[in-house]
Amino acid sequence: MDGTDEVSLTEALVWGRKLIGEYERYYKGYLTGYERMELAATGSMLGIRETRRITGAYVLTLDDFVSRAVFDDEIGRYCYPVDIHASDNSAASFDGFYADHMKYRYAEGESYGVPYRILVPKRVGNLLVAGRCVSADRAMQSSIRVMPGCYITGQAAGVAAALCVRGGTKPAQADVCAVQRRLKETGMYLPHLRG
Ligand SMILES: Cc1cc2nc3c(=O)[nH]c(=O)nc-3n(C[C@H](O)[C@H](O)[C@H](O)COP(=O)(O)OP(=O)(O)OC[C@H]3O[C@@H](n4cnc5c(N)ncnc54)[C@H](O)[C@@H]3O)c2cc1C
Repeated sequence: MDGTDEVSLTEALVWGRKLIGEYERYYKGYLTGYERMELAATGSMLGIRETRRITGAYVLTLDDFVSRAVFDDEIGRYCYPVDIHASDNSAASFDGFYADHMKYRYAEGESYGVPYRILVPKRVGNLLVAGRCVSADRAMQSSIRVMPGCYITGQAAGVAAALCVRGGTKPAQADVCAVQRRLKETGMYLPHLRG
C-alpha cells in the first residue's frame, strides 16, 4: 500500500478489517484458552511506518548513524538500529530489508545526535515537526520513527514552541542554546552540550 494515496489507504484498511476475522477464527479454532474469545474492536486508523517526511534545514542521513554524529544544535541522542522494512513484496526488497536490519546497529553506549534543524521545515515558516515525519532520509527515518525517537523530537518541539512564543521568534530563529538548556534541566540526555 501507498501511505500517500487515500485510495490505497482505504483499500488497506478494508483488507485489514477482513483479515482480522481470519485471526479470530484461527485463535478460536487452534489456540488453547482462546475458544471463547470475542473480537471487541479494531483500530480506528491504519498504522503505517512510512509516509511523507518534511525536508528540513538539515536532513539526517545514514552517514550520521555511521559516524555517531555530534551536532552543535542537538536536542537529544538516539541509538535505535536502522529498522528498515521491505517496501514491496519482491525478493530483492526482502533481501535488502534483512541485510540492512543486521548491518546498522550500535554497541552499548553508542548513539547519534538528533539536531534541532530536522524539526524545522526548509520552506514552511512558523512550523515545527516531530515524530516519524521529521527531516531524514529513508534509512534514518527507520531509526528515528521508533517511539523513543518520537519522544525526543516531540519533547524538543514542545519546548522550542513554548520558548518561541515567549520570545516572539519563529522556529528557524529559535535560541537553540536556550532550548537545549531547558531540555537538559528536564533530564534530556545531552552529553555534548557546552557550558
Ligand atoms: C505496524 C507497526 C509496528 C510498529 N512497531 C513499533 C514498535 O514495536 N516499537 C516502536 O517504538 N515503534 C513502532 N512503530 C513505529 C511507531 O509506532 C510510529 O513511528 C510512531 O507511533 C509515530 O508517531 P507519530 O506521532 O509521528 O505519528 P502517529 O502515531 O501516526 O500520530 C499521528 C496522529 O495524527 C493524527 N492525524 C492525522 N491527520 C490528522 C489531521 N488532519 N488532524 C488531526 N489529527 C490528525 C493521526 O490520527 C494520529 O493519531 C510501529 C509502526 C507500525 C505501523
